Amino acid sequence: MGQIAPRELLQTGSSGLCLHSSFAPSRPHLRLAAAFRHALENSCPGEHKPPRRVVNAGHMHAISLGRGAKLFEADALAFDSGGSSVNVSLDNGREIEARYAVLATGYVMPEIVRPEIQHVTSSWAIATTPQPQNLWQDGVLIWEDSKDYHYARTTADGRIIFGGEDDSTIVEPEARDAAVPVKAKALAQKLAALWPRAALDIDCRWAGTFDTTDDGLPLIGAVPGAKNLFAAYGYGGNGITFSYLAAELISALIAGHRSPPLDDFAIDRPAPRKACVGNAMGASGYHFAAAIRWR
Ligand SMILES: Cc1cc2nc3c(=O)[nH]c(=O)nc-3n(C[C@H](O)[C@H](O)[C@H](O)COP(=O)(O)OP(=O)(O)OC[C@H]3O[C@@H](n4cnc5c(N)ncnc54)[C@H](O)[C@@H]3O)c2cc1C
Repeated sequence: MGQIAPRELLQTGSSGLCLHSSFAPSRPHLRLAAAFRHALENSCPGEHKPPRRVVNAGHMHAISLGRGAKLFEADALAFDSGGSSVNVSLDNGREIEARYAVLATGYVMPEIVRPEIQHVTSSWAIATTPQPQNLWQDGVLIWEDSKDYHYARTTADGRIIFGGEDDSTIVEPEARDAAVPVKAKALAQKLAALWPRAALDIDCRWAGTFDTTDDGLPLIGAVPGAKNLFAAYGYGGNGITFSYLAAELISALIAGHRSPPLDDFAIDRPAPRKACVGNAMGASGYHFAAAIRWR
């Protein structure tokens, strides 16, 4: 691996990160791979049944409330972390004071977090009616490893979900939603080319926006210059995997344990030296998902 740092290694989309043998914690790229693998083994995006240790949001919500968590429904407008605690001003005029705060507001980042390498993009998807007789072997997740990628997955009731057509110029919700018919048509055509056996009876069409980074790694860790404030962003298409990682790493950080992958996920890291090869999302979680399911 020579002098290649973990981030550069990830940009190459190297299947080296899928290694399941010879894990050596002292080597940064393998440490990172192990961290991803741990997250994936506990939260696999391709699974239909709830994976080990991943419960649905409603269940987690109930557990948290049962342990004393309080839920406030409001928009957070400003964060003041100057003292020994963090004050969060809400749009209903109230304030929350906490010892620590973790920002996890998706692709909309507050002013206080300004990473150099974050971008916002929209993605579209379609789902067919159930057609279990037309699916490919084992219904494995198919991910196209190209810049303008598409992906195909199947559901438990035999539908094909096909997505892609990403566009970073259409991010305002209204424009994004208005593009659904055109994008859905393009997706159906690509699905027909990829898998001619598919019946193109489209049942659902939708769009979503998410943030991504130049190097395909998430933004997880302390917010620079803001004491007691942490952030978890930049998951790209790997929200299931990276959110689990973020929860593990940030809770450990608050408890005083700093994990090595945090250096690669730093909010204020500079743009990578090399141009990205492949797409940012392809650089991480989905490769692992494929590797784990196909080996
Ligand atoms: C079409 C599509 C398909 C995808 N498929 C997959 C997949 O198969 N597997 C996968 O792992 N990932 C997938 N992703 C990515 C995944 O959805 C995201 O990475 C993930 O949802 C990000 O989670 P988050 O909690 O950071 O942000 P979000 O899910 O965006 O949640 C952020 C929340 O914060 C709220 N918020 C924002 N600002 C404020 C504020 N100021 N105050 C209070 N609340 C605020 C928002 O309303 C929102 O509820 C997909 C994304 C898209 C768009």
